[in-house]
Amino acid sequence: MGKVLVIGAGGVSNVAVRKIAMNADVFTDILVATRTQSKADKIAAEITNVNVRTAQADADKPDELVALFGDFKPDLVVNLALPYQDLSIMDACLAYGTSYLDTANYEPLNEAKYQYSWQWAYKERFEKAGLTAILGCGFDPGVTGVYTAYAAKHHFDEIQYLDIVDCNAGDHHKAFATNFNPEINIREITQRGKYYENGEWKETEPLSVHQALNYPEVGPRESYLMYHEELESLVKNFPSLRRARFWMTFGQEYLTHLRVIQNIGMSRIDPILYNGVEIVPIQFLKAVLPNPGDLGENYTGQTSIGCRIRGLKDGKDRTCYIYNNCSHEAAYRETGAQAVSYTTGVPAMIGAKLFMQGIWRKPGVWNVEELDPDPFMKELNEQGLPWRELFNVDLEL
Ligand code: NDP
Repeated sequence: MGKVLVIGAGGVSNVAVRKIAMNADVFTDILVATRTQSKADKIAAEITNVNVRTAQADADKPDELVALFGDFKPDLVVNLALPYQDLSIMDACLAYGTSYLDTANYEPLNEAKYQYSWQWAYKERFEKAGLTAILGCGFDPGVTGVYTAYAAKHHFDEIQYLDIVDCNAGDHHKAFATNFNPEINIREITQRGKYYENGEWKETEPLSVHQALNYPEVGPRESYLMYHEELESLVKNFPSLRRARFWMTFGQEYLTHLRVIQNIGMSRIDPILYNGVEIVPIQFLKAVLPNPGDLGENYTGQTSIGCRIRGLKDGKDRTCYIYNNCSHEAAYRETGAQAVSYTTGVPAMIGAKLFMQGIWRKPGVWNVEELDPDPFMKELNEQGLPWRELFNVDLEL
C-alpha cells in the first residue's frame, strides 16, 4: 500500500491515473502534479474511490519538486511528463528520498538524441540511497522488454534475433495527428534508422528500409525500420543477441505529411525569431495539431505490438512471437483514451503496482527486462492488455 505522485497530465497520465484508481487495494493516495493544473483537475474529477489531489509544478525545477514531495510524501514518483524532465525528476527523487518510474528515456531539449547513459549514470546514487528507479515502463519501451525477458526465461536457452514490431492499424479520421506528444513523436521518427548486428550498430537513412509484415487480426502493413530506445538496453542485457531491430507501421498519408513538415522547416527544434518573439517551430506545430489525448472518440481499429524472437532451445532453432492487440474503441470506452495512450498508461501503472507490492523494489536503476517478467505478464492479462504467444511460426524477418 502506498502513495503515488504522478507528474504530467497528458494522454498517458489520464490512463495511468484511472488505472491506479482501479487498483485501490495497492494505491492509497494519488497526487497528479503538472505544468497546467487544470489538466490534472480534469483527470482527478473522474476519480471518486481513492484520495486524489492535484498540484501545479514545473518538473524542470528540482527544488520545486522536492518541496512538493515533502508535502505529499510519495512512496513512488511516476514521471509521465516529457523525456526532457527525466533527470530533474530523478535529481528531486534522490534529494528527497523517494523512488522513480518513467516511460521514456532522457533526451536533451536542444538535441534529438535519446540514450540511456544519462540515466544509467544514476545507478550508484539510487543504490546507495536504497531507492528504486524503473526506466521505460510503457509499451515500447516497457512491455516489449518484459516480453523479451519472459521469452528468454521460459522459451529459449539462447535468444539470438529480436524484431520488435509496432503496428497501429487504427484510424483517427484526421488528416494528420500523432498518437502521443507530437514533438517527441516527430523528433523520434525523423532520426536516422539504427539497428544492432553482430556486435555493431548500423545506421540507415530515416525510414529508408521497409517491408510489409503481417500482423495478427490486421493483415499486411508496410513496416519501417527505425531506432527505438529499448534496443540499447536489450542488447546490453541479452548479450546473446546477434541482431536486434525495431519496426513501426506508417500509412502513406502520415509519411506525406511528415515529409512536408520537414521540407518546410516545421520540424526544426532550434528557436527562430517570429515578430520579435523566439519560437521553436516544432513546439508551435504541436500547438496547432490535434491533442493526442483527445483522439479517442472517433478512433477505430487496433494496435498490434509484439516481439518476434528466434533462438535456440535444446539445441534446436525455435521462433516465438509474443504480442498484444489493443482496440482503440475498447480503450476509449474504458478510459476515454485511444489505444496508444492506453498501451502506455496501463504498463506504467503495473510497474508502479509491482513496486508498491515490493515485487519490483530493488535499489538501483533498472530497465524493465532486468526485473522478474512473470508477475508483470500476469498483470498484463488482468489489467486490459492480454498477450498471446505463437511458436515456430514464420517471423517474416
Ligand atoms: P502529453 O504531451 O500528452 O503530456 C505531457 C504532460 O507533461 C502534459 O500534461 C504537460 O503539461 C506535462 N509537462 C510537460 N513539461 C512539463 C514540465 N516541465 N513540468 C510539469 N509538467 C510538464 O504526452 P503523452 O501523455 O502523450 O506522453 C507522456 C510520456 O509518455 C512522454 O514522455 C512520451 O514520450 C511517453 N510515451 C511512452 C510510450 C511508451 O510506449 N513507452 C508511448 C507513448 C508515450 P502541459 O499540458 O501543461 O504542457
